[in-house]
Amino acid sequence: MIDFSLTKEQEAILKSVREFCAKEIIPVATELDLISDPDETFPRVLEIIKKGRDLELSYMLIPEDYGGMGLDNITIGIIFEELAAADAGFAGNLGISNIAWLPLMIGGTDEQKEKWFKIATESDEDMFLASWAVTEPQGIGLNTDDVWETGQFTLNVKTTATKEGNYYRIDGEKCFITGGAAANLCVVLAETSEGPSHFIVPTDTPGFNVIRNENLMGHRTMINSALSFDGVKVPEENLISMDEGNGVSELLGVAGYSDAWVAAIAVGLSRAAYECASTYAKERIIGGKPIIQYQATGMMISDMSMLIEAARAMTWKALWINDTREEPDGKLSALSKVFASDAAMKITTDAVQVYGGAGYMKENPVEKYMRDAKVMQIYEGPNHLLRVLVSIMDYLGM
Ligand SMILES: Cc1cc2nc3c(=O)[nH]c(=O)nc-3n(C[C@H](O)[C@H](O)[C@H](O)COP(=O)(O)OP(=O)(O)OC[C@H]3O[C@@H](n4cnc5c(N)ncnc54)[C@H](O)[C@@H]3O)c2cc1C
Repeated sequence: MIDFSLTKEQEAILKSVREFCAKEIIPVATELDLISDPDETFPRVLEIIKKGRDLELSYMLIPEDYGGMGLDNITIGIIFEELAAADAGFAGNLGISNIAWLPLMIGGTDEQKEKWFKIATESDEDMFLASWAVTEPQGIGLNTDDVWETGQFTLNVKTTATKEGNYYRIDGEKCFITGGAAANLCVVLAETSEGPSHFIVPTDTPGFNVIRNENLMGHRTMINSALSFDGVKVPEENLISMDEGNGVSELLGVAGYSDAWVAAIAVGLSRAAYECASTYAKERIIGGKPIIQYQATGMMISDMSMLIEAARAMTWKALWINDTREEPDGKLSALSKVFASDAAMKITTDAVQVYGGAGYMKENPVEKYMRDAKVMQIYEGPNHLLRVLVSIMDYLGM
């Protein structure tokens, strides 16, 4: 019943991903991280992402019938781990492009899936990318007060979608949107008369604007932008599910899958930090012996291994359950994201400690890993919020 071995197909995909990382990402990850201006970094990042077109990593979950890879969650998870071990920012770029398809996968009608998935997979673009725009400058704040009694979450979405004949007009601002300036298509959450709803917006639609590219602390190869929607008109068929007001349940459905994917990215980043720290601790000689032989250092190294094994096991269980059930396991998926990202923060911080002063210097990779880790406790829902959500699920018996 329990089998942790990879299939031949998974081994083959991983080999291609590993080769792509070794050839295209690892040699430039540090250099790109050090560029101060995101407007300079992002076009170079996009060029590299497009070189991976043949791997089809931007639409891994789109079913084969629509020209996608139709991969299961476990396979997507191990690919994300591998990408993140090379560079978390690149993993984030491809992560969001897959996450953006989830509202359509979960709530879309057959006609909508047929249309948009084929547009993506049959595109002449070098690589068709999607973004998912939820967050807004004032904070959309998943309201967790009423839910204890009602079981219903509410959101404070200020971006509006107003019905005008056969069209919706979308107005508002979104911030911190991964892939924002690079994506061909943006799945945007906007308030309708019946509540928050997801809309598909091709990014060449008039009124869709990139306000600026963001300058990030870590994940500096992850394209991230503030966006404005200034009277963007989309046909009513672009409303996912064709019914207004399904945005919150689609959002929670997305998190049920994507939290475990993000957990896999955290495991990959942790693995990279651990490998550096472990090697350094064996090679660095102080007082006539390798520092791993000092118990405090050795125990940090074994704690890293322990956390990585535990985070991967929890992540794989969440991914496996999401492959075997009709509905994702939102609770376990959230727990795996919280555990793996908290573990990544601790492991990368300890990796800097193992290096001593050298760990604080830009020429060693561990300070980058520590910066890369921090956002994983924030994006895809801050860990505080996810912990609250899990306690609510417990209370409501979900
Ligand atoms: C690099 C990066 C990439 C991102 N990519 C995307 C993207 O592609 N698409 C997208 O839509 N968004 C994206 N985000 C936004 C991200 O999901 C949000 O930043 C995150 O959900 C937190 O929302 P906020 O920034 O508005 O923080 P706030 O809502 O202002 O929260 C601030 C803090 O308050 C606490 N808090 C808030 N609400 C609760 C609660 N209910 N219970 C307990 N604690 C709470 C948490 O500690 C939280 O960290 C990205 C963010 C970053 C930094």
